[in-house]
Amino acid sequence: MSTETLILDGNTVAGAIKQSLETRIARLAEHGITPCLATILVGDDPSSATYVRMKGNACKRLGMQSVRIELPASTTTDQLLEEIHKLNADPLVHGILLQHPVPHHIDERAAFDAIAIEKDVDGVTTLGFAQNAFGFANYPSCTPAAILAILQHYNLPMEGKHAVVIGRSPILGKPVSLMLLNANATVTTCHSKTANLEEIVRQADIVVAAVGKPKFVQGSWIKAGAVVIDAGYNKGNIGDVDYEACLPNASAITPVPAGVGPVTIATLLKHTVDAAERQINL
Ligand code: NAP
Repeated sequence: MSTETLILDGNTVAGAIKQSLETRIARLAEHGITPCLATILVGDDPSSATYVRMKGNACKRLGMQSVRIELPASTTTDQLLEEIHKLNADPLVHGILLQHPVPHHIDERAAFDAIAIEKDVDGVTTLGFAQNAFGFANYPSCTPAAILAILQHYNLPMEGKHAVVIGRSPILGKPVSLMLLNANATVTTCHSKTANLEEIVRQADIVVAAVGKPKFVQGSWIKAGAVVIDAGYNKGNIGDVDYEACLPNASAITPVPAGVGPVTIATLLKHTVDAAERQINL
């Protein structure tokens, strides 16, 4: 193990974000408002259930409200839209998170787009995505925003750097590519049809792994001194990066767990507090 590699501790970054929220939540309480995140879980996928539970618990620990909507796997698109419309109309709900993925028969895009933009705290609507692309979103997707928050917290420069993002999903790979581009990085976005992936990753100053495959990124792919961000989260708390193998070449690296994950949750809480403040123009 290289002694010089900086471990990018997600718990430290998340702690700083959550601490900054405490006074804001207290100020909202003076106005009779408790920031409230509504989560919607469709079906019984155990990982999704865990993620939703973690988000709800994180809200409670900070004195925020959480509403959990749990719907059976047989839920139709129309039924899901109806639930979302109810939450849109509820003034006590400030943020709405529809846990991805929903069962295949549901039109996920229609469901995401049904979320009111002022409550789209995970940047999943088409409008929220577009605002993020232009660089003026109130609520960019939480995991991409968490990745940038980690880089910023540790003063790791993005400007002029070659960032290689592996993955192009609408909630992670694409938005983080756009955010890095807006931060003046030169960005290459890779995907399952990319030719010569390893060679491209070897050119990266910043590698973002968002693949969904355990230990996918190999140590030999990492240029000496590169920053490695592992957004992956696979069964058994395993990231998309072979951490031990990448450690010697990396100048900085996120672990899994305790890397991007806790910052994603802290960012979700922050966006919900932002939304509650905006509701009363605070
Ligand atoms: P996803 O929707 O399945 O997308 C995976 C992406 O990886 C796709 O763009 C896919 O390419 C690409 N890919 C798959 N195999 C590849 C290969 N052999 N070479 C290059 N690219 C390949 O997954 P996601 O929702 O973006 O999630 C990615 C990872 O992040 C997962 O491990 C997930 O658990 C994790 N995640 C973590 C958080 C967090 O809070 N830490 C939040 C969300 C997701 P194609 O587009 O060509 O199919």
